Order: sequence, then C-alpha cells, then structure tokens
Amino acid sequence: MRHLITGGAGFIGSHLSEALLKRGDEVFILDDLSTGSVENIRHLKTHERFHYFFDSITNRQLLAELVDESDVVFHLAAAVGVRLIVESPVRTLETNVYGTQLVLDAASKKKKLVFTASTSEVYGKSDKVPFHEDADLVLGATTMGRWSYAASKALDEFLALSYWKEKKQPVIVVRLFNTVGPRQVGRYGMVLPNFVRQALDGAPITIFGSGQQSRCFCDVRDTVEAILRLLGTEKAIGEVVNIGSDQEISIEGAHFQKKTDDELVAASGRISTVAATD
Ligand code: UDP
Repeated sequence: MRHLITGGAGFIGSHLSEALLKRGDEVFILDDLSTGSVENIRHLKTHERFHYFFDSITNRQLLAELVDESDVVFHLAAAVGVRLIVESPVRTLETNVYGTQLVLDAASKKKKLVFTASTSEVYGKSDKVPFHEDADLVLGATTMGRWSYAASKALDEFLALSYWKEKKQPVIVVRLFNTVGPRQVGRYGMVLPNFVRQALDGAPITIFGSGQQSRCFCDVRDTVEAILRLLGTEKAIGEVVNIGSDQEISIEGAHFQKKTDDELVAASGRISTVAATD
C-alpha cells in the first residue's frame, strides 16, 4: 500500500513511517518542519520506499499530487504542545482547522481513507473517567487561550465526521492520549522528555502544580500498532477511537523547583494550585 503522512517528520509520524516501511509499504511524508525535524527521519531518508516533501499542507497542488499517489492519508500535521499553543494561538487555530479542511477536501475528490489525529485534550475538564468517545466534552471559556487547542481539534473531528456523513468520504478519527518514546522532545512542553533532560543535566525536576495530577503514558510504538490495526478495521470508518495506555501514573517526583505562578500557568493551563516548594 501507499501512504501519505502529513506531519511525517514529527515524533509520532516518524514512528508511523518506520512501521509502514517495515510492512513493505510505500510512504510519502509532507512536513513543514515547524515542530517536526529532519533528525526524526534522517535514518529513513535513503530508504527506497520513503519519499519526503518539506512543505506546508497549505500547498494545495502538492497536497493533491501526494493524495493522488496514496491509498491512505494519515493526517498528523498540527500545532501541538501546550507551550506552542499558549504562545501562538492564531497559528494553532489556522493550522489545525484550515489544514484539516484542505486535507479532507483533497482526499474526498478520490475518496481516500483519512486518519484524522485528534487528542484527549478534547475531553477538557470532564471528570467522567475512563473517557468514552461518546461522552460530553467539557471545555473552558474562549477567553482562556489554552482551550483553543481542544476546540480546534474538536472542530477537526466535526469536519472529518461531516465529510463521512455528507460526502461518504471515509475517515477514522483517533484521539491520541499522552504518547511517549524515542525522539520526543520537551521543547513544546511535554513532561517526560523534560524530566529526562533535567535528570541528565543534574538539574532540578520541575513539577507543575501539586504533582498529584495523573496521566496515562503510551509507548509510541503501541500507539502506531493501534493505528495500524484500525487501518484494517472496516467498522472503524466514520468512528472516533481513543488510543492510549490505561496505566495511570502521577506526575509527582522527588525534586521540586518553585517558579512564579504566572510562569506555571503559562506552561500548563491545568494548574489550579501551586504546591511546589524548593
Ligand atoms: N508537567 C510538569 N513539568 C514539566 C512539564 C509538564 O510537571 O516540565 C506536568 C503538566 O503540568 C501536566 C503533566 O505534567 O500536569 C503532563 O504534561 P504534558 O504537557 O506532557 O501533557 P498534557 O498536560 O497535555 O497531558
């Protein structure tokens, strides 16, 4: 099979590329290197079934050509990471909403299956765990910039599902929970690579809030396997599917670094109290 991965030079996209090549498939990636990097795919660049294009998904002509070349489109290109979203809300909204619309539009001309990557962030403040795909989404006020990410991804989901309902354009929406593994960087706020970097540097580990908040971290190779299993699952078409680990772990650690409350809130909107002390 032949696949297009938008955001293919990103953390998850590079692992997905690897897995598809291992199956014997052909992979085209389209990435503007905004949060992805050449480093992530350096080891794949000379592979005969791997083709990379460093350009934006807003290049409609290139996008259309690559969609034509492919049987399936994995749409992973998005503005991600809490830090980036708080700092660049316009870019978040434009990339996530306009970009997804372009991909769905291009794919719908030839009815190519589109995997649309969404996020567990869409559950927002909901406390109805475990999160069920049909459950209500509980988002905060539009005056709080951080919710633009969840809202933009929720709109992506609406778009994808509408293309399926109205145009019979096949889609599968995957809601990715916290994902970890090789090549993930902490630059955009993700917690584990930050902790590892701080530990390697012998620096204090920065825990935001009380540290009692918990997450389920899924190995990226398991995430990719789940995506590939969905690829062969007819009944997943037109559905939303959670992908993540079910092993909960708290963020709490041995070392604390006190920052100002403003810095903490800017880095993570999930903070209600700052209990960290030196
Ligand atoms: N976090 C932290 N220190 C860091 C980065 C993040 O304590 O250096 C916390 C963050 O406040 C959140 C959790 O770790 O409660 C997971 O953060 P991440 O941004 O990785 O994922 P998300 O909040 O999107 O689930």
